Amino acid sequence: MRTPLTSIIGSLQLINTGMLGDLDKEMSELTTIAERNGQRLLDLINDLLDIDKIESGSSPPIPRRYRSTSWLRESLVLNRAFADRFGVRMALRGDPPALVVYADKKRLIQVMTNLMSNASKFSPEGGLVEVGLERVDNMARVSVEDRGSGIPPEFRSRIFGRFAQADSAATRQKGGTGLGLAICKRLIELMGGRIGFADREGGGTTFFFELPLLNQSAASSE
Ligand code: ADP
Repeated sequence: MRTPLTSIIGSLQLINTGMLGDLDKEMSELTTIAERNGQRLLDLINDLLDIDKIESGSSPPIPRRYRSTSWLRESLVLNRAFADRFGVRMALRGDPPALVVYADKKRLIQVMTNLMSNASKFSPEGGLVEVGLERVDNMARVSVEDRGSGIPPEFRSRIFGRFAQADSAATRQKGGTGLGLAICKRLIELMGGRIGFADREGGGTTFFFELPLLNQSAASSE
């Protein structure tokens, strides 16, 4: 499924850059819509294949010990360009403690990316997204805080479900499959943690997840 679609998107991208010659306005609008929707379809296929892989157990998270400082900063670097697209600033809150979690780094960054990209998409332009880390009992709690419009009350119980989206017009405009949070929840639970959200004081939403913390002296890796 992915190979032909990638080739279609690649061809449309080439056309849309204008490298093959100028297009008139109407034609260019159509090829731009085709490229955008091709990309949405590819995102959807990738998320569906991923959820299937997770549910079937064919690709379980492989947890190892990781120092929070490495993946936390890496997530910020990886997601900054996406936040820039929405004119959103992203920052680390305070000076987070160096904790050691037991997790699959690739999956952890996938969860961070999803929460950070949602925070960017649902923030007002110029808004600040803050990423924090703290210790709560024997868990490391990561939070992603935005200053967006919040989660509508009637949508709260469905937010971690598959294909759940509060506002389809916003999604069409900003992209998304409605599968991201369902994938995050499954991954965090498979790594022995939990995920949730709360209203942020002063407006916006704080998404958080907690992962088991390892004894600092057991730290061996990155
Ligand atoms: P999507 O690909 O649509 O972002 P998700 O599963 O990640 O899918 O999110 C599901 C829905 O939850 C979003 O479409 C949006 O309606 C809502 N949502 C997620 N994160 C936020 C947020 N930080 N602020 C407001 N609404 C959010």
